[in-house]
Amino acid sequence: MPPRPPNEEQLQAVWFEHWMRPVIETDEGVRIEIVQPGNWNHGAGPDFLQAAIRLPDGTLRVGAVELHLRAGDWDAHGHHTDPAYNETILHVVWETPTKTFFPATENFRHVPQVILKEQLLAPWEQVRGYISPLIDSRPLPAAQPGRCQRWLATQPTGTALNLLRAAGAFRLNQKAERLGWRIDAVGEKQTLWEALAEGLGYSANKIPFRLLAQRLPYAMMLKLTREQRLARIFGLSGLLPATSLEAFDPEVREWIKPQWEHWWKIRARYDYAILPRSPWKLSGLRPWNRPERRLAAMAELVPRLSRLHEAVAARDADAFRRLLDGIHDPFWDRHTTFTARSLSKPHHLIGAERINDLLLNVFWPLVHQANASTAIRGWHESESAANSVTELARQRVLGGIELKPHLHETLVQQGLLQIYHDYCRTDASACADCPFPKTIGAE
Ligand code: SF4
Repeated sequence: MPPRPPNEEQLQAVWFEHWMRPVIETDEGVRIEIVQPGNWNHGAGPDFLQAAIRLPDGTLRVGAVELHLRAGDWDAHGHHTDPAYNETILHVVWETPTKTFFPATENFRHVPQVILKEQLLAPWEQVRGYISPLIDSRPLPAAQPGRCQRWLATQPTGTALNLLRAAGAFRLNQKAERLGWRIDAVGEKQTLWEALAEGLGYSANKIPFRLLAQRLPYAMMLKLTREQRLARIFGLSGLLPATSLEAFDPEVREWIKPQWEHWWKIRARYDYAILPRSPWKLSGLRPWNRPERRLAAMAELVPRLSRLHEAVAARDADAFRRLLDGIHDPFWDRHTTFTARSLSKPHHLIGAERINDLLLNVFWPLVHQANASTAIRGWHESESAANSVTELARQRVLGGIELKPHLHETLVQQGLLQIYHDYCRTDASACADCPFPKTIGAE
């Protein structure tokens, strides 16, 4: 009896553990070298990201790899119309298609296709046994251990920790330097205003938020009433509804009306500066993170900005946190968009996670201007939650190196991010050409 074919997860595990031949052929007979299989993506989008393949003429291609049991699944799963798959460099399938199938991206690019069944290093029955331990482990890994990890694992306890803390301190210095340049150009309070606005937009909408803070300077906003501030921020954002108010609930109409009464009188003056829709990301956001709520928070920052500035000068992180935590708006505490139903109970305009990020990215880098060691201690003594990028970096750089009690330390998390951004993110050589091991004295 022929062996049962793999399911999709097993097929992905085969690819992740590199159980195919190092050079495989596409269904058009092109021999390609698998330089690195990429990082296993367990979220939405292609199965592997940052994979690298080399074509017969030596060209290196870096991008996504998508795996399916059958060739036709590419279309059946809608990838041919989904721009998220436009960076796919290889479609890997198990079965030989009964008829020729040419996968193509949404922007009409042909994706080379590989049929894996006949190109494994060993028969599938055996490979299945080799990948079983991986499949049985949960959560599934995202990345293979990197070259630097082999050396770090042989070093005395504390080497990896010191290295990550040094990388974290370097990152903090870079953030401080960036803010320092802005302070030289526009002054401390305007820099604080722009940095907080950018942090409110993080990550999807940080550019439009920064633009708003630049186009509506703090010194000007301070002279306005609350309604005038809201009208300018929402008006300039381009998100103030311009359709008939009849379409909205009465309480939404009540909120929009005064903004329009202010906005229509000054709109012509700002015409050149109104943001188009294009820089805004409005879909796929959690309701609490909607830009409308963050714009309302931005308006409430203005009367607090002097005290936030004083908290930075006094290096008082708790005062900074309390000021942000106290930001409310009677309408936006209970709303997420103009059209969604109002919430049954009020919800913080700036949640705890966002406040932590503002401390990390604004407060401590500003403190760093006056006293670097206090700021480094601030990152050292505070904690940050891991995210998908820090987890990926941890698997590549640290793997089994035990840093558990320190792993949530902000300095360590930021160090991981720095190494990931400086080295892992751009590596397309399965670590072979990465200069990081040499930098840290590993070779
Ligand atoms: S790319 Fe460089 S830094 Fe990243 S895991 Fe490989 S050797 Fe380490």
